[in-house]
Amino acid sequence: MSVLIFVDIAEGQVKKVSLEALSYGAKLAEQLGTSAEGVVLGTPKEDLAALGKYGVSKIHHVSNPALDHLDAQLYTKVIAEVAGSTGATVIVFPNNMDGKSIAPRLSARLKAGLISGAVALPDTSNGFIVKKNVFSGKAFANISITTPVKIIALNPNAYPVRTGEGTATVAAFEAKVDSPRVKVISSTKASGEVPLTEAEVVVSAGRGLKGPENWGMVEELAKVLHAATACSRPVADAHWRPHNEHVGQTGIAIAPNLYIAIGISGAIQHLAGVNRSKVIVVINKDPEAPFFKAADYGIVGDAFDVVPKLTEAIRKI
Ligand code: FAD
Repeated sequence: MSVLIFVDIAEGQVKKVSLEALSYGAKLAEQLGTSAEGVVLGTPKEDLAALGKYGVSKIHHVSNPALDHLDAQLYTKVIAEVAGSTGATVIVFPNNMDGKSIAPRLSARLKAGLISGAVALPDTSNGFIVKKNVFSGKAFANISITTPVKIIALNPNAYPVRTGEGTATVAAFEAKVDSPRVKVISSTKASGEVPLTEAEVVVSAGRGLKGPENWGMVEELAKVLHAATACSRPVADAHWRPHNEHVGQTGIAIAPNLYIAIGISGAIQHLAGVNRSKVIVVINKDPEAPFFKAADYGIVGDAFDVVPKLTEAIRKI
């Protein structure tokens, strides 16, 4: 019996969501009186032993160039093999794009109950009950997993990264890796200096900006805040911004510490992707814009007037 945590890496770097999953899995293992171990696939550029400071005692490393890019089918098979050999009874994923494509496949393969969108440690006092977001983040549900093997996909920014000391043992795991069915021919880096799903701060804009030629001021504000840029769906649909910036129910769901929404009305479908942000700041010229109801701070004003002044003020800090 142990807790196994999938450590998601991108270009060899461990993602922040993985540190949260490691910290969560380690705490859960402590709660269950068992050990926490991580699994890394592909070619990391970081010292895996250092992941011990997030509470795991061991890292299983499956090194194979076929695993350098996400292939959900291959990843599922390999993780199932690692889980079987380590006797993992709980497997934790970050509930990001990669976690969302592997966890359900693994759930079917292992006949394991899966809770995606977990926001807290399970209540293990009487069974195994996990609190999760439902209805696009508008409510919570407590769901019991009754299968012997359990899978949890933890929402980004829902659990704090552990701070402490520690070193993990790194063990090479020889897994059977099939030839990939998908071949990556090329990959293009998403726009922006900071990846949207990893960003602590996100500056987002909507149709209120009138056209793509006005995004310079959004990028300037993002730059001074070291933020990622995002947009509403109509903006991406109109090709003012790339689709990988579209947040919301049909786009990416994010949970940064600070979300600044400029000229976005705050439709429910937009809020579904951003309402887990810690602090929301809304800039809109319409005092009746629905987004103000979800905002922690609001500025009623013309974005073309407010945003450059805000950028200048932050630059002076
Ligand atoms: P608008 O609704 O046009 O709002 C523009 C806002 O800008 C207004 O509030 C206006 O007051 C303000 N404004 C105008 N000029 C200025 C100015 N100069 N300064 C300051 N403020 C100004 N939308 C998403 O974003 N993400 C989704 O994932 C998504 N999924 C959807 C799924 C479904 C099934 C459906 C039906 C819709 C979905 N939508 C989604 C669309 C959603 O319903 C809204 O239509 C959309 O979010 C509106 O985008 P917006 O706020 O940029 O534009």
